[in-house]
Amino acid sequence: MPGGVQTEVRNYQMLINGEWVASKSNKMFPVYDPSTEEVIAQVPDASAADVSRAVAAAKAAFEDGPWGQSTHQERGRVLFRLADKIRQNLPMLAELECRNSGKPIVEAEYDITDAATCFEYYGGLATKITGQVNPVPDNALSLSLKEPVGVCGQIIPWNYPLVMAAWKLAPALAAGCTCILKPAEQTPLTMLEVAKWFDEIGLPKGVVNVITGFGETCGAPLVAHPDVNKIAFTGSAAVGKIIVKAAADTVKRVTLELGGKSPNIFFADADFEAAIDGALFGVFINQGEVCSAGSRVLVQKSIYKKFVEAMAAKAKTIKVGAPLDRDTKMGALVSKDQYDRVRSYQELGKKEAKLASGGGRVEKFAKGYYVEPTIFYDVDNSARIAREEIFGPVATVIPFEDEKDALKIANDSPYGLAAAVWTRDIFKAMRTVKALRCGIVWVNHMQPTYVEAPWGGYKQSGFGRELGPHGIEEYLETKQVHINLNEAPIGWY
Ligand code: ADP
Ligand code: MG
Repeated sequence: MPGGVQTEVRNYQMLINGEWVASKSNKMFPVYDPSTEEVIAQVPDASAADVSRAVAAAKAAFEDGPWGQSTHQERGRVLFRLADKIRQNLPMLAELECRNSGKPIVEAEYDITDAATCFEYYGGLATKITGQVNPVPDNALSLSLKEPVGVCGQIIPWNYPLVMAAWKLAPALAAGCTCILKPAEQTPLTMLEVAKWFDEIGLPKGVVNVITGFGETCGAPLVAHPDVNKIAFTGSAAVGKIIVKAAADTVKRVTLELGGKSPNIFFADADFEAAIDGALFGVFINQGEVCSAGSRVLVQKSIYKKFVEAMAAKAKTIKVGAPLDRDTKMGALVSKDQYDRVRSYQELGKKEAKLASGGGRVEKFAKGYYVEPTIFYDVDNSARIAREEIFGPVATVIPFEDEKDALKIANDSPYGLAAAVWTRDIFKAMRTVKALRCGIVWVNHMQPTYVEAPWGGYKQSGFGRELGPHGIEEYLETKQVHINLNEAPIGWY
């Protein structure tokens, strides 16, 4: 393996009811290092029979196991212990995440820390779940109690594997739910490693089941299963729509985060150097495999030409390299499928707009799914490269005249996950913030994400919110209780 560390192919099992098991079919599938195209692991290929086993385990753990009787404090402590284990094993987890996803090691280290922080945050929040007393006009005590939703199916993508698992598991566990987590088929490894500690940290068997498999054969039966009370999904809009329809048959609670085509808006008065940096970071971090990627770069006409030139010049200096190299700023795309997809959009872009930089594969690597950071300009907002989520390092730069024009273009998208606005004028910034139809807005920055603050989209970017106190609400039901304080009979008849 050129430039990498040769390790043997690891065979994994998956975790159902506290036991490490193969799939019922005994089939496995390969997991790759996308920077070398080599197989690094084999994992069980779970199908409907395995989903049923996992759901039965989660249901039993919810209804009959010790988790259902656990106190909020106990659940919080379990999450703190999990966070500690993740922090103690940061080098191992970061290296594995890096090798399996193709992202730069430095970013992988941030991710593992973020995952631990998420478990800590919800560990703390576990003891702050409170109901309320309702002021009913009778001699009665009316209560709203918060209770766990129950058995939760959680289906996650490959771009931030362990972070996405933490965003799903941490609030669910704090709320007292039990889970069946299905990592993306491309990137199941860090979650499988973390699951090895469940027993040691005091998580009872069956509370979290980790099943590895593909969308149609493993994800779909999880969505359809009548004993699953809620599905939490992060992934493509196409699959999100399938999930909403499938969940309707059993009236499951569903939360969805489906990515976007987020505008990163630059007014002429923005700090120019910071703006160029922010435009590149917004769309190229994590190889552009980011649901909130600032993939539509909207630039005011008076600075447009200079902006495109500066952005292209700096993009050419971005170090695309081996993910394990600490100087690498952009690694490999996650898979052959994703590589083909991004390459096809690079070619489409050449027909739909003008190319300022990049546009192809990084040819210096013999193997691996490396593509160039790519910038198209003079893009019309109706072009496919401006409407469809590419999920790779492809920026589409779109000129605008004035504030009104910018907002019209920004909101003209089926998506509504995120946006950013760059200006030194606080009034303009706040007018823009209010007019944008999306769930997250950054002012003079793009991408920082905090576990304390809500995350989710408007329009076809999904519904429901993760992170912050909102995140736990999605795993709670509200039970209304009326306690009569009149000792006498009702006296109606
Ligand atoms: P991508 O196309 O980039 O892989 P997906 O939305 O297909 O993005 O994948 C996100 C997650 O959804 C993965 O865990 C995948 O296995 C799962 N998935 C894909 N198709 C389905 C489906 N029909 N039902 C449930 N889960 C699915
Ligand atoms: Mg898919």
